[in-house]
Amino acid sequence: MKICSRCLYTSNHPLYITFDEEGVCSGCRVHEEKDVLDWNVRSKKLESILNQYKNNNGNNYDCIIPVSGGKDSYFIVHTVKYKYGMNPLLVSYNKHYNTDRGIRNLANLKTLMDCDLMMFTVDPAKVKKITRATIRRIGSIYWHCIAGQTVFPVQMAVKLKIPLIIWGAHQGVDQVGMYSHLDEVEMTRKYRKEHDLMGLEAEDLINRDFDNITSNDIQAFCYPDDKEIERIGVRGIYLNNYIRWDSKAQHEQMINLYGYETDYQTGTFDNYNDVDCFNYSDVHDYIKYVKHGYGKVTDHVCREIRLKRMTRETGIDLVNKYKLFSPKNLNLFLNWLGIKENAFHYLIDQHRNDQIWKRNDNWAWEFMIKTTNNNSIENARLTNVQENTNYVISKSKRENYFDDKYILIGKGIY
Ligand SMILES: [Zn+2]
Repeated sequence: MKICSRCLYTSNHPLYITFDEEGVCSGCRVHEEKDVLDWNVRSKKLESILNQYKNNNGNNYDCIIPVSGGKDSYFIVHTVKYKYGMNPLLVSYNKHYNTDRGIRNLANLKTLMDCDLMMFTVDPAKVKKITRATIRRIGSIYWHCIAGQTVFPVQMAVKLKIPLIIWGAHQGVDQVGMYSHLDEVEMTRKYRKEHDLMGLEAEDLINRDFDNITSNDIQAFCYPDDKEIERIGVRGIYLNNYIRWDSKAQHEQMINLYGYETDYQTGTFDNYNDVDCFNYSDVHDYIKYVKHGYGKVTDHVCREIRLKRMTRETGIDLVNKYKLFSPKNLNLFLNWLGIKENAFHYLIDQHRNDQIWKRNDNWAWEFMIKTTNNNSIENARLTNVQENTNYVISKSKRENYFDDKYILIGKGIY
């Protein structure tokens, strides 16, 4: 297994990664564009796209923005609304694993930025049935979240005849460099299926014998018909093709402007992105280790190395610090789903990557990848690194509340 000479991604990255003759990965190479492209020109290009969608009659929204109580939502809405003067409809798929802070961040987002928000909550019984099936089939507790987040905006675009959807960063560009920023890659059903949904479309879940899933159960997760998408002219663009993406700086701007709430995360040092979910950097991230041998901390370290805020050495220390953590919120998840811990581990172990893990003499799982130094690391090293690994923990707007249960529906404070 290869490891990048600059960041810490390995050749088994699930989104696919390639390496050049200097041992540098495609993600690092495409990331170099961030310091080369003329972002004023890119921003003008975005402006001209957005202008085509402004609804001058005032009888409909200009665009749809998918949001949550975390992950760049504030920055995207702020930018689209205040920098480019669009009138967006915010849409949010309810992931069910909501934290108190996430509920409040989302509620406050619509109030503080004067936007309309449409939230979609699927019947918990259906969500649980689907989650049992996706754990068994692909070892994922997050399939329903990703499927819902990536399809609800498209369904609304078709139903409400709002053709433009605006997303934040495309991971195929920002993480692995599958495309250049200049490709201006847009949302497709194919990418969603192959990468976001790990190859498993909603329709593939129908299974009366084993999981008892019917077409009615998966309706909320089905992509609209191609003909309908074409009739409305639905397209989804990604802001990171037009704006120099820097998640940490963007979140800090939003903390200052709007009091976006942050919180400590179990599996990573980045306290900004995934504050809205009990599982994303916890149970889900633990599963990512089992399946791929790395977790969110590696994603965040690679991002920070490329943005010249972290050296490779600090990155390795951080990965070692968070690696192999025990999920803090596992019991909460097991109680929600109604399965036993040994059943959970049995199901997840079926998806364990045998290139990365092996049983040792004590029948415990042992991690096989070792990061070693070689000459190419010095050649690939970025210069002018200014280390900054400080992440602000903002004060909770609901002090003395002990956040220990999923909140399905809740309210903010404004
Ligand atoms: Zn790299």
